[in-house]
Amino acid sequence: MEKTLSIIKPDGVKRGLIGEVIRRLENNKIKVIAIKMLHMDINQAQGFYAVHQERPFFKSLTDFMSSGPVVVMILEGDNVISKYRELMGATNYKEAAEGTIRKDFATDIEKNVVHGSDGPETASSEISYFFNTFEIAG
Ligand code: GDP
Repeated sequence: MEKTLSIIKPDGVKRGLIGEVIRRLENNKIKVIAIKMLHMDINQAQGFYAVHQERPFFKSLTDFMSSGPVVVMILEGDNVISKYRELMGATNYKEAAEGTIRKDFATDIEKNVVHGSDGPETASSEISYFFNTFEIAG
């Protein structure tokens, strides 16, 4: 069974969208097998987004991701990586499809409420960035 990492970003937590995001997962039969809230420091945020370190928005993105608590989850299901990315919508909320989380709630290309791994290898490394095996109930 495929797994992916989901993050409800600081804007989503601040705006009271934890329940809404989880409701959408459950409505779509996506299983949450691990969950916790944490507040990344700048080093953790930079490590998580290291792949983007050359991008012009890296500083702004990592400042944002370390600006408040996030909820990190491991999701499990058939094709859950692409299924969850479909629920999230495009990175830029202006291009996101109707009914997606980002279309409905994002306010900015950066403050786009949720993160989801983009492939099996990133899913596996992102999951182990946040969780050890004792924290996973799958
Ligand atoms: P994702 O996989 O859809 O989250 O998108 P990416 O991996 O391309 O980018 C990671 C995150 O960086 C996005 O979710 C946004 O929060 C942020 N981001 C992406 N593009 C931009 C941009 O052009 N400007 C800013 N400020 N942030 C961006």
